[in-house]
Amino acid sequence: MKAVTLFKKKQLLSFEVFPPKPDVPIDRIYQTLDALKNLNPDFISVTYGAGGSVPGASTAEICAYIQDKLQILSIAHLPCINETKESVLEKLHVFQEKGIENILALRGDRNPAVLPKDDFHYASDLIRFIQENGDFDLAAACYPEGHPEAPDLETDIRLLKEKTEAGASHLISQLFYSNKDFYLFREKIAAAGISVPVEAGIMPVTSKKSIERMVSLCGASIPNRLAKLMARYADDPASLKAAGLEYAIEQILDLRENGADGIHLYTMNNPDVARYIAEAIAE
Ligand code: FAD
Repeated sequence: MKAVTLFKKKQLLSFEVFPPKPDVPIDRIYQTLDALKNLNPDFISVTYGAGGSVPGASTAEICAYIQDKLQILSIAHLPCINETKESVLEKLHVFQEKGIENILALRGDRNPAVLPKDDFHYASDLIRFIQENGDFDLAAACYPEGHPEAPDLETDIRLLKEKTEAGASHLISQLFYSNKDFYLFREKIAAAGISVPVEAGIMPVTSKKSIERMVSLCGASIPNRLAKLMARYADDPASLKAAGLEYAIEQILDLRENGADGIHLYTMNNPDVARYIAEAIAE
């Protein structure tokens, strides 16, 4: 089934997981997924490191498990800067064999240790290539505060439109902590003529270290209220986690009330956090 068809029925709730790191037992990801199944997500997406997959369970294998064993739709992330046309064709073939029909087409983050290949420079190149070489439903990433490399949000939105014109049927947003940014972004993309569904990416704050790392990686800003919570509980990890979860729940309820097409929860492979949030927002 193509993920885009789901948006017609309801506001979605989807989860994102990543393949296990080399020091984590492979079984752990399957236990995580088994736990996530009970929360009835509309789909689960599986990341793919732009530098390639680590030995163990690959993105395609995990997607196949989600679909075949859990009977949940899966979306395979596919970053392209370190791929060639041949290697993408091979991956599309594997996806087809495993019954994976949905791809999140990405450029991928630049890795200073890896010289990018020359076949794909932007996600839109990959989207066009996949459109010509297979029958997949393609999602793309979007950035409510602008992509960190873009000179400004307007330019980023103009380039985002290229991705939807190339064939991205829905968008999943980068994490953000101010719903106002998301609402403003939604208005701006609508004004630019982008009309595909947009899921709001939510990553709950569960520890000071994790949020500092994520924010430095993706450039998301921290609103005053969240900054104050983080300062208040700087030496109290349990209270910070509780406050971070409540903040995420408030964000999600407000987004739903304001008509967000869906919520994409960055689970960080933590089913307990996902369960807490899913139960709190259950209708
Ligand atoms: P693009 O859409 O190609 O944009 C990248 C930059 O280039 C932007 O600044 C854009 O404005 C600019 N640009 C776009 N088109 C053009 C053009 N034609 N000419 C000039 N400039 C242009 N990374 C991974 O490695 N693996 C993952 O699994 C993964 N999953 C992600 C999931 C989500 C929901 C999100 C939001 C991000 C994810 N990322 C992942 C990170 C992503 O790869 C990075 O944010 C990356 O830096 C940009 O990818 P993109 O597909 O948005 O790139």
